[in-house]
Amino acid sequence: MEAQQQSRSAIRRHPERAVPQEAAAILAAGIVAHVGFCDDGQPFVIPMSYHYDPRRPDRLYLHGARESRLLQMLAAGAPVCVAVTLVDGLVYSRTAFNHSMNYRSVVCFGRARVIASEAEQRAIFEAMTERYFPGRRVGVDYQGATRQQLDATLLVEVEIEEWSAKARRGGPKGPYDADPTAPGTAGVMPL
Ligand SMILES: Cc1cc2nc3c(=O)[nH]c(=O)nc-3n(C[C@H](O)[C@H](O)[C@H](O)COP(=O)(O)OP(=O)(O)OC[C@H]3O[C@@H](n4cnc5c(N)ncnc54)[C@H](O)[C@@H]3O)c2cc1C
Repeated sequence: MEAQQQSRSAIRRHPERAVPQEAAAILAAGIVAHVGFCDDGQPFVIPMSYHYDPRRPDRLYLHGARESRLLQMLAAGAPVCVAVTLVDGLVYSRTAFNHSMNYRSVVCFGRARVIASEAEQRAIFEAMTERYFPGRRVGVDYQGATRQQLDATLLVEVEIEEWSAKARRGGPKGPYDADPTAPGTAGVMPL
């Protein structure tokens, strides 16, 4: 997996905000993945839950109904782009232009393969449930998926070929924001 090197994952705007060393942690903490793909020249971006394990940092898992267009596209090997964003704060400034957000985000590029093995499917779904609901255990807190439910579901593993990670931190950076005597107000509203 390459980070930042190639043109599609090189951060051109605010390159000082690149945080490639945080990419795995951001993916591990994220809740929603926005999954982008092209179907017959038309780009689509669809929100999805996902699984990610930083011990396997170049893999990300998506699942859905077997009939899902998104899953069908990915299963057929279409290139995919996945974005995960954590919004940490809303940044307000004494100048309109300098209102901003504090965030950590990752953009991944890759291709997927279908996970067909039942044992692998169960392991990934149980780990995914544990990621979203720490401490919940199959067979104790909930029943595992039935064979029929697994058959109705398509699980894909995205191999991340390249990624980039970017973060903004800190207060507003407008020309008057460091001056408490200037008119207006400035600060950060944590989320
Ligand atoms: C937070 C969140 C997590 C989700 N997690 C999953 C998941 O893990 N697995 C899963 O299969 N689905 C998930 N969904 C639903 C997912 O976004 C899609 O609606 C669903 O996967 C159907 O995909 P499709 O390709 O078959 O869509 P289609 O029905 O083929 O899409 C057709 C059109 O419907 C519209 N559309 C589709 N989905 C949405 C949407 N969510 N919001 C607005 N318009 C939409 C778009 O215009 C799209 O082009 C999640 C949705 C949200 C918001």
